[in-house]
Amino acid sequence: MKILLVEDNEELAENLAEIFVDEGHEVAFAANGREALLAAREPFDLALLDVRLPDALGTALLPQLKEMVPSSEVIVSTGNADLQSAIEALRGGAFAYLTKPVGVEELILTTRRALERVQLRRLSESLRAELEESERRHRDIVEAVQAMIVALGRDYKIRFANRQAEELSGWPREELVGRDYFEVFAPQSQRDARRARVRAAFDGFNPELEVDIVTRTGAVRRVQMRWTRQASGGEDLIYGMGLDVTRQRELERKARTSEKLAAVGTLAAGLAHEIRNPLNAAGLQLSLLSRRIGKLPEHERSNLEQPLELVRAELSRLNSLLGDFLAFARPREYTRYPIDLSALVGRVVEFDGQSALQGGKKLASSIEPGVAVLGDADALHQVFVNLLKNGLEAATTQVDVHLVVEDGRAVLTFRDDGPGIPRDVLARLFEPFFTTKPQGTGLGLAIVHTIVTAHGGEVGISAPAEGGTVARVSLPVAQQALPAAAP
Ligand code: ADP
Ligand code: MG
Repeated sequence: MKILLVEDNEELAENLAEIFVDEGHEVAFAANGREALLAAREPFDLALLDVRLPDALGTALLPQLKEMVPSSEVIVSTGNADLQSAIEALRGGAFAYLTKPVGVEELILTTRRALERVQLRRLSESLRAELEESERRHRDIVEAVQAMIVALGRDYKIRFANRQAEELSGWPREELVGRDYFEVFAPQSQRDARRARVRAAFDGFNPELEVDIVTRTGAVRRVQMRWTRQASGGEDLIYGMGLDVTRQRELERKARTSEKLAAVGTLAAGLAHEIRNPLNAAGLQLSLLSRRIGKLPEHERSNLEQPLELVRAELSRLNSLLGDFLAFARPREYTRYPIDLSALVGRVVEFDGQSALQGGKKLASSIEPGVAVLGDADALHQVFVNLLKNGLEAATTQVDVHLVVEDGRAVLTFRDDGPGIPRDVLARLFEPFFTTKPQGTGLGLAIVHTIVTAHGGEVGISAPAEGGTVARVSLPVAQQALPAAAP
C-alpha cells in the first residue's frame, strides 16, 4: 500500500522508509506542509505526519489531508509530546498519536492496524456502492414494470406503491401509503371477502385473484392480482402484483358476444328457412280449409269457424315471432346513408294511422321537416314501427308522435295515454323475450335498442307522473352536406 511520509528530518524519513519498504509498501516523501499537499493529489493509503514542520503544524495539515483523501488514515508523530497537540490530532481524525523516538515494533503494529482499517473502509464503501447500485436497479425495474405493485403490512395498510399503481388508480403514492388497501381499492361489498383471501399470503400461500379495482374517479378496472409474502427480513409484508386486464376482458367479452350472435344468427336463418316453408304450407291449407268450411251449411259451420280462427291467429303469431327473431338475431352491418328522417317518420305515421283508426285509436303527429340522420333506412323504419306498435297497443285513445332537433340531435317521441309501465317492468323492457302481452314476442324493444345504439343514438322509455308512456329516441343529426351551388 502507499504511505506518505511527511517529515522534515531527512535521515529519519529514510529510516522510516526502509522499514515500510521492508513491509512491502510504497513510500512517498514530503519535507514540509506545502509538499505534503502537493503529494496528496496522488491518493495514498496512510500518511505519517510530523507535528512540527518548517512551514506548518501537522495538526493543521491533518484535516486537509483527510479531506483530500477521505479513505486514508493519518498517524501523527512528534518529538516532544504535549497533551494539547495529541488532543488536536485525534480530534482532527488521526488514527494514532505516536511520540518519538518511535519503537520499530510499535510503528509497524500501528501502521498495520491503520492500513487494515483503510482496507475495511474501502471494502465497505465498495459494498455500499454496489448495494446502492443494485437497489437503484431494482427500483428502476419496479417503477418501469407495466404492473401495479403494492406492499401491505399485517394491518393491510399500504407500505409501498409503484408508479403503475399510481397510474392505474389515479392516486398519488403519498396518498396511498398508510391507507387501508381494501378501503381504497375494493368496492365496499367485497372488502371482507377479499381481505380474507389475501390474508392467505401471510401464511405462505400465493393467492391469485382477478378483481375489480376502484380508481380515484370511481371507475372500475379489472386487475389480475397475485400476492406473495416477502421472503426475508424486516417487517412482515406481502406484495401484490397486478396486471390491468380491463381491455383484454372487454375484447374477449365482445368477441364472445359477437361469436354467439353470429352463431345464433346462422342458426336462426337456417331455422327460419326450415320453419317458414311448413308455415306457409299450413297457412295455405288453412285457407283451403276455411273455404271448404265456408261452403258447409250454417249449422255445421259455426262450431268449426272458431277453432279455425284460433289456428289462424296462432300461425300469424308464429310468423311474426319468426320475423322479430330474425331481425334481432341476425348480426348485420347497418348501412349509413343520409336519410330524411322527417319523411320516414311521416310515412310510418301515415301507414299505421289507418290501422289505428280501425282499432278505434287516434294517431297525432308533429314532425319538424327536413331532419336528416345518417343510417340504415330499413332498420330505422323497424325502430319506429316497433315503438308505434307498442304505443298503439297500450293507448287508451291516442298516440302522439313528435320529432324535433335539440342540441344537434334528432329527438323523436311516442307518447301514449295508456296505463303506463310499472317500475319492475321498466327495468326489464329491453330484455329480449321479455313481454307482458299474451301474444307478445318481447323482441320489439330489444330490436329497437340494438338498432338505435348501432346508430350512435339513445333510447329511453319512461312513465311520466301524469300517466301514459313516453318512448324517446335520439339520434345524431347528419351534417347536412349540401352540394355546392353552381356559380
Ligand atoms: P312486446 O310488445 O312483444 O311485448 P316489446 O319489447 O315491444 O315486446 O315490449 C316489451 C314490454 O314492454 C311489453 O310487453 C310491455 O309490457 C312493455 N311496453 C312497451 N311499450 C309500452 C307502452 N307504450 N306502454 C306500456 N307498456 C309498454
Ligand atoms: Mg312490441
